Amino acid sequence: MPLKPSDIQKKLPGGGKKNCKECGFPTCLAFAMKLVSGGVALEKCPYLDPEVKEWIVDAITPPIKLVSVGAGERILTVGEEEVVYRHEKTFFRPPGLAVLISDAQDDQAIKARLKKLNEYEFRWVTFNLRADLVVLKHESGSKERYLSVVTRVAQEKLPMVLMCEDLGVLFAARDLIADQKPLLYPITNANLEEALPGLKEKAVPVAVRGQGLEEVVSVTTKLKAAGISDIMIDTSPRNLKEALRDYTLIRRAALKHTFRPLGYPIISFLPLKAEDAAEEALLASALVIKYASVIVLNDLHRETLFPLLVHRLNIYTDPRVPLAVEEKVYEIGEPNEESPVFLTTNFALTYFAVANGVEACKIPGYLGVKGTDGLCVLAAWSTGKFVGETVGPFIKNSGLEGKLKKKRLIIPGLAARIKGEIEDELPGWEVIVGPKEAEELPAFMSKLIAG
Ligand code: SF4
Repeated sequence: MPLKPSDIQKKLPGGGKKNCKECGFPTCLAFAMKLVSGGVALEKCPYLDPEVKEWIVDAITPPIKLVSVGAGERILTVGEEEVVYRHEKTFFRPPGLAVLISDAQDDQAIKARLKKLNEYEFRWVTFNLRADLVVLKHESGSKERYLSVVTRVAQEKLPMVLMCEDLGVLFAARDLIADQKPLLYPITNANLEEALPGLKEKAVPVAVRGQGLEEVVSVTTKLKAAGISDIMIDTSPRNLKEALRDYTLIRRAALKHTFRPLGYPIISFLPLKAEDAAEEALLASALVIKYASVIVLNDLHRETLFPLLVHRLNIYTDPRVPLAVEEKVYEIGEPNEESPVFLTTNFALTYFAVANGVEACKIPGYLGVKGTDGLCVLAAWSTGKFVGETVGPFIKNSGLEGKLKKKRLIIPGLAARIKGEIEDELPGWEVIVGPKEAEELPAFMSKLIAG
């Protein structure tokens, strides 16, 4: 349950009625309101007794811990999710997609995998989509080999998960790249006591592995008591059904019951041995929806990575905010004074469909994108954002009139009814109703040019 300012106010001095203003706020309630939004430090009130302080710190700490892996530009930050279902608000931090590299692979194979990680990057709407991190598994049995592969991979400056059952090797690898904040995996019930002194030496995140929820709870509780809280968790599900069950229980326990021992991001090693790339992508797509924060893939394949990344983008795009591109005139090819002007709205998917349609015409042109708060043509028209009165000034202020000898404006077929309004606003322009679908533009333009 979200915390209300009045809940905190009651705990403040004098039952929240002291109102001495020493914290810089006019009342205790105003201070409590700022505390809930994270905009002020608790220490600003000098009259809090330690027990109350502890209660407030616990109450305002997000139910799912924010955890970062890596450093610099490619840092991956996950956690602090606020809802069980995306439609309640939005999901905030997309899961990192990791690729597995083993030190038992030969150097060529490792190089090839890193190459894919760097090269498989896709431009989609206004985003660059790509995988995020590397899981480096110690399988060779040789400490020297593992450390050498860690050093090689660290040159890529990507977030890394060090996956190693031998604590001595794990800590040696961490010490090599501690400034890159790798995630250490696995910390378990069996190795915890031995691991604790080493874990306290350097502040890097750790991932707990347990056989089921109870074991994870036991380890996270002990880590927290030892002052370690940058934690991810893995319940070792054996199949997708178990993964969805565990991850749903974790999300609900954290958010609905503020159960702190499970209030951490989940790292997921795909619960089935993926038979092929498509199956692996399908499994990963389910885990994107159901609460994994790091998803480890066995390999990267261009044809399955792209849809997976688009799927992740869709799930983690705020459903309350339409995807939009900038309002302006885009040049397609090298347009000249004879080139036509195509018109559309700034809903990102509409823009890309029309831009592709214009490119397919194989004639240079201008694409006027009218800002409509990200609404598509019909929705923008029905709300008065894509009508003669808005389109006219947009075209007039665009500078197009000075560039064109022949002023032809091709409007979307779905907006045929605003043709007359635009003609009234833009004397001297020929307004042509185009096709309803962008993919029909090439055939439409061929006919138009043929006269
Ligand atoms: Fe209330 Fe403390 Fe602020 Fe005084 S300093 S107004 S007691 S919150």
